[in-house]
Amino acid sequence: MNRYSKITKKIAREIVLLKGKPCKWGKCTFCDYILDNSNDEAYNHNVNVKALECITGEYGVLEVINSGNVFELPAKTLDAVRGILINKGIHTLFFEAHWIYRKHLERMRDYFGVRTIVKTGVESFHRDFREGELNKGFDYKNIEELCKYFDSVCLMVGIEGQTKDMIIKDIQLAMEHFSHFTVNVFVENTTSIKSDKGLIQWFQQEFTWLNNEHKCDVLWANTDFGVGALSY
Ligand code: SF4
Repeated sequence: MNRYSKITKKIAREIVLLKGKPCKWGKCTFCDYILDNSNDEAYNHNVNVKALECITGEYGVLEVINSGNVFELPAKTLDAVRGILINKGIHTLFFEAHWIYRKHLERMRDYFGVRTIVKTGVESFHRDFREGELNKGFDYKNIEELCKYFDSVCLMVGIEGQTKDMIIKDIQLAMEHFSHFTVNVFVENTTSIKSDKGLIQWFQQEFTWLNNEHKCDVLWANTDFGVGALSY
């Protein structure tokens, strides 16, 4: 599995796919990311060190992802990331966390001590679809509350049960409320959740303009960031 890559479009950055414990939420119906998790902290850290050694700091921006949340990475790995930020002159760090960690984000931002862009996989702002179909566990009251904690949202597109209207609204809200967002086109995996090929085709036609939208990363395939076979 490739664990280091560079994103050269839009916000240029290095990206590492690290290994951590299983996601504390772990209940999203479409998620099989657990396949890259391990409870063996020493093993996880050894894998992570190899990926972290590739970082040059050339863009001053780094993104760390894992198949879960930044909080599930080994403490030694977090220390190593913090050291790299200092030693390589990195001024901006992207990382990911689920809603359940919202009250701990400030502590993590302070720990890294650089500008942080915290991403969260809300997948959709449509509550019934998000919670009924995807079981995401995001019980925020309104979008302002979500914005209070997170800088960037990840949206999922192309799941059976999703509609064109939901997608249009999701993109509109992400554009209006967030300084950065990611759209993942759903790729079927080992779960029973199915993709809607017609909806994906429609999305590709209607939303090609997102390719030129600076604050949006679109992953037409889940390896578009160049790491792993996984995406958040
Ligand atoms: S999609 Fe993300 S939050 Fe949901 S179970 Fe998978 S790793 Fe956890």
